[in-house]
Amino acid sequence: MELREAAMELQEQNLALRERVVALESELKQSKNLKFDGGLYYMHGDPDPFCPLCYERDKKLIHLVKNGQQEGYWPSCLVCNESFEPRNRNG
Ligand SMILES: [Zn+2]
Repeated sequence: MELREAAMELQEQNLALRERVVALESELKQSKNLKFDGGLYYMHGDPDPFCPLCYERDKKLIHLVKNGQQEGYWPSCLVCNESFEPRNRNG
């Protein structure tokens, strides 16, 4: 292999590794701020829960939305269409 080709290959590998580090760092930061309450995920400082299915399956943080106006609604995910029973935070 030509020296120039080898150098270019190393440069590409370097770039790919840097991108991987950035992705892992943001994942780590995210998971540090994320709390699992036994049913739903909550981000520090954010009162709205995230979809546990989307997070655990795809590592995507999808906010759950309130489904309906009446009391006792279950938050649901617009991406996977699952509804989740919120934990009784007083109990
Ligand atoms: Zn979901």
